[in-house]
Amino acid sequence: MLTTGPRGTKDILPDISYSWRYIENIIHELCQQAAYQEIRTPIFEHTELFLRGIGETTDIVEKEMYTFTDLGQRSLTLRPENTAAVVRSYLENKLYATLNPAKLYYIGPMFRYDRPQAGRYRQFHQFGVEAIGAKDPSIDAEIISLAIQFFQRLGLNDLTLQINSVGCPVCRPIYREKLQAFFKDKLPSLCKDCQSRYERNPMRLLDCKNEKCQELSQGAPHIIDCLCEECNDHFEKLQGFFKAANIDFIINKRLVRGLDYYTKTAFEIEYKPLGAQSAVCGGGRYDGLIEQCGGQATPAIGFAIGLERTFLALEKQNLLPPKDDSIKIFIAPIGEKAKEVAFRLVYELRSAHISAETDYLDRSIKAQMKSANRYQAEYVAIIGEDELLNNQVMLKNMKTSEQELVSIDDLKNKLVDKAGEKKND
Ligand code: AMP
Repeated sequence: MLTTGPRGTKDILPDISYSWRYIENIIHELCQQAAYQEIRTPIFEHTELFLRGIGETTDIVEKEMYTFTDLGQRSLTLRPENTAAVVRSYLENKLYATLNPAKLYYIGPMFRYDRPQAGRYRQFHQFGVEAIGAKDPSIDAEIISLAIQFFQRLGLNDLTLQINSVGCPVCRPIYREKLQAFFKDKLPSLCKDCQSRYERNPMRLLDCKNEKCQELSQGAPHIIDCLCEECNDHFEKLQGFFKAANIDFIINKRLVRGLDYYTKTAFEIEYKPLGAQSAVCGGGRYDGLIEQCGGQATPAIGFAIGLERTFLALEKQNLLPPKDDSIKIFIAPIGEKAKEVAFRLVYELRSAHISAETDYLDRSIKAQMKSANRYQAEYVAIIGEDELLNNQVMLKNMKTSEQELVSIDDLKNKLVDKAGEKKND
């Protein structure tokens, strides 16, 4: 127990953490270039926020939340997603007063009591983007294109963008009735979940994973054929933007978001080689959510990308960059007095932003040279007895094997000069 992490969690070990930074750097750069600003919200929120902001009839709220009571008897929940928290923060901090639209992004861990398997964890990470305050389909197109550009920058191809419209409070009730009429006599044969969805959230009947339910839903009416004029126009315009920018997409009429505050655009990006957990990005418009959370009616749209799945896709296509944790110089002291000098040198070099490492285990010089190689050190500075007497180090270039005696006081400048020489080569 003490040596095993909780089920569904994963340590990000040193052999992979560098590639998390690689992905995070791409996210920050991309978002900065598209004028999105980072927001960091707490990992836990009042449970109530998620009940309202995700919806009480969703799988997440019904079955997957990590909810606990704190010592002050408040019900808190580890965030299962971050849109609701961003909206909470937007309202609490009155971001609408300065940012319009508020274009925000986040990277961070989310928590869901899911059934762990490849690509599905109980703690996982999402990169998400929210644009709050604009209703024009051009912002839908921008948001979706940002997700695509993120995957493009990573070098991932073979992605499929699926889009749909889930209507609005004007056209959806009519569609709901049609849908319920279609399923009415099939109700006894549907799974238990679908039977309860029938009344509360009938659109979710379309994305049940149960084979029997999928079969029974063949021929069900599609919302896209029941859109009101405004929703239809929005959806047409969105497609127009994609065509103008040569962004490929597929219309998936069964792509749904079941709750009333989801409106118009819904989309998903899939990377099929991942198999069962192939969705790498999901998102959509949520024009009713801000009001639902206590704000003024405000249109908004966003997406969330699963970073673990992105990693799996990158590994599959061999696209992770090689790890580079090489250092500039390894200081190899021999003897107690030399260790002090080594410490001083490492300290001074690091202060000058030069990567430096030394030995902490009283290793032999041979073993220290091995360490230096493992660190792919460009130089090794050996401090033996003779060198110590003369206030020098023996500086060895590990590539050329050239050696020279350098005064301890000059070492830093020497390395800086050498870096300059290299640049001018
Ligand atoms: P959602 O918030 O459910 O729309 O999910 C957005 C994205 O997060 C999905 O497309 C997945 O890539 C990722 N995701 C969702 N749930 C999990 C999970 N349990 N483990 C890993 N990734 C997940």
